[in-house]
Amino acid sequence: MQALLPFDEDVAPPLQPSPQRPCPEPHLVPPVRPNPPDRPDAPGLVFVRHPRARRYVIRVAADGTVRITVPRRGSKKEAEAFAARQRAWIEKQQRRAAAERERLAREPQPAVADERALRARAQHELPRRLLELSAQHGLTVTRVSIRNQRWRWGSCSRTGHICLNWRLAEMPEAVRDYVLIHELMHLKRMDHSPAFWRLVAAACPEYKKARAWLRSQSAR
Ligand SMILES: [Zn+2]
Repeated sequence: MQALLPFDEDVAPPLQPSPQRPCPEPHLVPPVRPNPPDRPDAPGLVFVRHPRARRYVIRVAADGTVRITVPRRGSKKEAEAFAARQRAWIEKQQRRAAAERERLAREPQPAVADERALRARAQHELPRRLLELSAQHGLTVTRVSIRNQRWRWGSCSRTGHICLNWRLAEMPEAVRDYVLIHELMHLKRMDHSPAFWRLVAAACPEYKKARAWLRSQSAR
């Protein structure tokens, strides 16, 4: 069983060196002790004794919690007095933290913003690249659509309408080109026969690598 922690004031009187060895790692420092709820003058104060700290340090966390580092020879009483003197500063920091939390809550989440940017890029890049490749192979695409397809990377209709998944825009170029060429070759053959794959191989010699990459992605 673990011995009493040096923070216990009944054992180690304040302002005297603790008889126990201090924990060498900050994460082994005595656990955080929230104030009892009947202390309305010090809401959310957390005291942490730190064996290497030389003085009292107050930090206000992003959630508004106030954390006071107590030096090895310091006392909780002194820490509280220190916090009381710094109250105006603490409240200012808490107001700042609250404003920052509000600002973050209003902003679109990074994932959503990234997705929008990527879709915009897909709309811009994929049709261009498809038309470049179709010109190289002497094929005619009647229409290109960029879609949010869950299960497929692309499709090609008999009328020459090619649909592409916007996520192709974030793939390695060789893989993206393979998918585009695959759909373009369907303008010649609407099946997946050996003859179709010969067309793909002629236009995209590295297509097997690209297919393996796509399979590895869908297996994730
Ligand atoms: Zn196909």
